[in-house]
Amino acid sequence: MTIYPVLDLLVKREEKEKLLRQRSKVIWFTGLSGSGKTTLAVALEKALFGKGFLCQVLDGDNIRSGINSNLGFSPEDRSENIRRIAEVAKLFLDCGVICICAFVSPTEDLRNLARGIVGTGDFIEIYVSTPLETCESRDVKGLYSKARKGEVREFTGISAPFEIPCNAFLSIDTTDKSVEECLAILLTDISNRLERAD
Ligand code: ADP
Repeated sequence: MTIYPVLDLLVKREEKEKLLRQRSKVIWFTGLSGSGKTTLAVALEKALFGKGFLCQVLDGDNIRSGINSNLGFSPEDRSENIRRIAEVAKLFLDCGVICICAFVSPTEDLRNLARGIVGTGDFIEIYVSTPLETCESRDVKGLYSKARKGEVREFTGISAPFEIPCNAFLSIDTTDKSVEECLAILLTDISNRLERAD
């Protein structure tokens, strides 16, 4: 199939970034359920917005209820879930918008799939390294208790593995830190990658 090369006709990413006075990146949070990914993604968007940066947060709520509503949790569907999320994140990236993604993304294969689609230089991986004991004691969605009873199968951390990321730009354990403390760490390490001099 011949695809008309419309991409060459569009306003370039660089020009869109200049309009928005920012550099677009994909900030990808990975970690166990309850580790703090969504909380930090939401806090980061708000803080960056306050500093004049335009972001879009992608997480299970807006992805699994919409574009990926037909996907389950089989290995094939988990991979397709991440592939579509990364493709959507890339569209935001090409529009000059910082895209903050919060997904368990438990394996190196899944994270590398996302990194490959987005592009290594634009992919900022944040490992929310909060240990299982903390996540389980929080049990935000009651899923750990269900997983322990065998009511949720292949639950990451209980009955499915979480592979520690090898390429994380930053790791944060939220166990003994406030959201504000974590946010301060994130802003210190990430802000200069989003700012532009011109
Ligand atoms: P995830 O998106 O990784 O599944 P959530 O953000 O939904 O995790 O839940 C994390 C829970 O931990 C929330 O109830 C949040 O209030 C709590 N929490 C306590 N301290 C922190 C922190 N420093 N950073 C992020 N979340 C924290």
